[in-house]
Amino acid sequence: MHIGIIGGGLLGVSLAYYLSETEHQVTLLEQNSTLGGLSSSRMSTSGVNINNYYHAILPQDQTLIDLCDRLCLKDDLSFQKAEIGFIHNGISFPLNTIWDFLSFTPLPLRDRLRLLNTMVRIRRTRNWLSLDQISVEDWLLELGGEQVFKRIWTPLLEAQFDYVYDEVPATYIWSWLRSLLQAHTGNRLQVGYLRHGHSMVIESMAHVIEQRGGTILTNSRVREIEIREGRAQQLRTYDGMMEFDAIIAAMPTPAFSRLIPGADQVYRDQLSKSRYLGLICPTLVLTRPLSGYWMLRQTDPSSPFSSIVEIPHPTDPNLTVVYLPKSTAPENDWMGVPDEDIRDAWLIRLRQLFPDLKPSEIQEFIVNRSRYVDPVYSLNGMRDVLPVQTPYTGLYLANTSQVYPHLPTSDSTVRHAQLVARTVTKQSVTHQAVTVA
Ligand SMILES: Cc1cc2nc3c(=O)[nH]c(=O)nc-3n(C[C@H](O)[C@H](O)[C@H](O)COP(=O)(O)OP(=O)(O)OC[C@H]3O[C@@H](n4cnc5c(N)ncnc54)[C@H](O)[C@@H]3O)c2cc1C
Repeated sequence: MHIGIIGGGLLGVSLAYYLSETEHQVTLLEQNSTLGGLSSSRMSTSGVNINNYYHAILPQDQTLIDLCDRLCLKDDLSFQKAEIGFIHNGISFPLNTIWDFLSFTPLPLRDRLRLLNTMVRIRRTRNWLSLDQISVEDWLLELGGEQVFKRIWTPLLEAQFDYVYDEVPATYIWSWLRSLLQAHTGNRLQVGYLRHGHSMVIESMAHVIEQRGGTILTNSRVREIEIREGRAQQLRTYDGMMEFDAIIAAMPTPAFSRLIPGADQVYRDQLSKSRYLGLICPTLVLTRPLSGYWMLRQTDPSSPFSSIVEIPHPTDPNLTVVYLPKSTAPENDWMGVPDEDIRDAWLIRLRQLFPDLKPSEIQEFIVNRSRYVDPVYSLNGMRDVLPVQTPYTGLYLANTSQVYPHLPTSDSTVRHAQLVARTVTKQSVTHQAVTVA
């Protein structure tokens, strides 16, 4: 069977990698000149590849760690202690240990205990199914009370969901905090990095795919997947038509929806329910450390960015890489703002927080943005998760919206690729058997 995979992000490349292990032939098509999608990197002025977006590997990301092992990248992966903090009224507070929670002065002692209780309850909750039907707001209010919700969770949720979170299920905060809590060894958070970023995983898999006889076509934007008589086997690129026995679209749902004008209205309506948040994320290379925290969350709603993520430079210990992300709803005007204006607005806020930061200490300021980053779920989100098998024979959809209730991390992306590869090969066997009969 010849399988066409559209989309050369981590999911599409992992799919091609796992499918090329089987007897099937794979062709991967990516619209950009390089593979990687959200996991791609770019060459900095210092001649080093820097991740476009911050990417960490947590100790429990076993599928991704195993993949690094298989790709002989384990020596490039190192774990370090990391600290999370909170900036409140311009002052940063660590929030890592029980003692940190008890000393968190922006809240009175009674509410600090409630915040701590929230963490303990989240850690103990194993059955997430009931959380799918409760809003994140209701659950956090129940666990920690009104003051904790107002001072701590409201700014975090507003920043994460660009202010609209009333329909977001409690599974979101459960997944997020549980994964952070699981990443603690003893009292300390451990965070891992690949020396040259996640693009090392992408490049190594691409190399193996080609060695196994697979084909990778970059600069190949798919314009349409033709659907005829309930089947999809042909796709159209700017260079012409291509035919496959099976096609997997490994891309966000709105992008997939645009490729299938021949799909019926019922399926198109199902796809149109899918919502995503975008991201604007300037990356700075500094000649000094900034805060000493891995991640600093802000509570000030007037800040253009919601957090500060600081990681070591891949090669130069004297440099620091800093990411200043902002989540954006599709209709948010910031997405169309020119890079220079973003730079001005972001730097004003950064200098308020770090008045001693000198312009000469900012070696680079690069603005990255992507329209479809985080899938957003509504209450009863499980009900709306799209199946991998579309209603059309030979056509499959694979994206991170299907990993619910887990977070769309690289680890869950690779796990999903394994599952989709198994689904496609299994169904092709069934389909061939039916055709022969
Ligand atoms: C800011 C940020 C921080 C993150 N941090 C972490 C982290 O710390 N740890 C972690 O584990 N994960 C992290 N992730 C998540 C991780 O990056 C994603 O899970 C993963 O990259 C998703 O890959 P994907 O292939 O599903 O999607 P994408 O990367 O979006 O790939 C889709 C690909 O499809 C291509 N495409 C779309 N339409 C077409 C077309 N018509 N024809 C051809 N090609 C097309 C696109 O160009 C793109 O390359 C982070 C993500 C972001 C954005």
